[in-house]
Amino acid sequence: MSDYLPRERFEDLLQQLEHAGYVCVGPTVRDGAIVYDRLNSAADLPAGLSDEQTPGTYRIRSTGSARQFAWANGPQGLKPLLFAPRETLWQATRQSDGTLTFANATVAQSKLAFIGARACDLAALALHDQHFLHGAHSDPPYANRRRDLFIVAVHCSHPAQTCFCASTGDGPSATYGFDIALGELDEGYVAQAGSERGQTVLCALGLSPADPAQVAALERQNQDAASKQTRTLPGRNLRAALFANLDHPRWHDVAERCLSCGNCTSVCPTCFCHSETEHAQLHGASSEHVREWDSCFTRGHSYIHGLTIRPDTRTRYRQWLTHKLGSWHEQYGRSGCVGCGRCISWCPVGIDITEEASVICLQGQ
Ligand code: SF4
Ligand code: SF4
Repeated sequence: MSDYLPRERFEDLLQQLEHAGYVCVGPTVRDGAIVYDRLNSAADLPAGLSDEQTPGTYRIRSTGSARQFAWANGPQGLKPLLFAPRETLWQATRQSDGTLTFANATVAQSKLAFIGARACDLAALALHDQHFLHGAHSDPPYANRRRDLFIVAVHCSHPAQTCFCASTGDGPSATYGFDIALGELDEGYVAQAGSERGQTVLCALGLSPADPAQVAALERQNQDAASKQTRTLPGRNLRAALFANLDHPRWHDVAERCLSCGNCTSVCPTCFCHSETEHAQLHGASSEHVREWDSCFTRGHSYIHGLTIRPDTRTRYRQWLTHKLGSWHEQYGRSGCVGCGRCISWCPVGIDITEEASVICLQGQ
């Protein structure tokens, strides 16, 4: 059963979450983009705004509508909240007898309620959970942040021109991984609980049930959102097609355009490559072990003792695509692409993963 949350009561939802001990993080405008940040009130939401995205461009524009979620994802998803761009993992201290002691860095973390998660980012979150939580060794900082995360998803009603989550099977409607899912209509939201704690929050708001016309309008809107998407990948498992074409001339062609800047991997909600370095204090008595996001597009990322395995852009782009769309299947049982389109919009030269994959896989040598 679904409830109906009138738009003017969105503030009550935020207050209810704060009352339950959560700090609310949600979409807001910063530096010309919709990003996720601390929400002090519903007035911080990007009401009346939408976006235009094409390969290499992102612009916010006014719509004149009262809608608060009539836009597609900006550059940032859940990734930086759970997998920090830079953090200390442990400290080592030299004792007076010369021995070393090690201590895990502590993560001071508030309970977060993430407002506005889109289906593609929930799929990316499930992939990160698989990697950081459910592998042989769970990652303590990630696990610590993930444990109390409350998720309010919003079905995507306005996909960007660069989105293709329908083709990867990950969106645009949220179907799992949320505590509450909202579908935004002109006057308010159809709300559905996805967990017991989500149900508790909705019950505390004392909402009326959504009427059948509102539920039907949301279903139509969800179908429209999927049918508006024009980009597609040429298949959900491209492993065989990519690895059969490792010498395809298109790898040279894309390398002529690619700047090896790594923007695509920074904005990608599933990429999790990182580097780890020791930062010793000058007095030599202690050091910190720091993890930072890295990218398979950097020269250092493929350096092993005395050798850089991928010395040029051709081999780095090929590594990114064959891993993301190919060998992720062996590691995680699915592709590493959830169709969010960010790597297309935020690539400074507008390289389009769907186009590159189509040329290489469909026009194989
Ligand atoms: S590869 Fe591109 S479209 Fe796919 S999940 Fe990453 S950023 Fe999104
Ligand atoms: S594909 Fe685009 S975003 Fe990615 S490294 Fe190349 S130029 Fe940068």
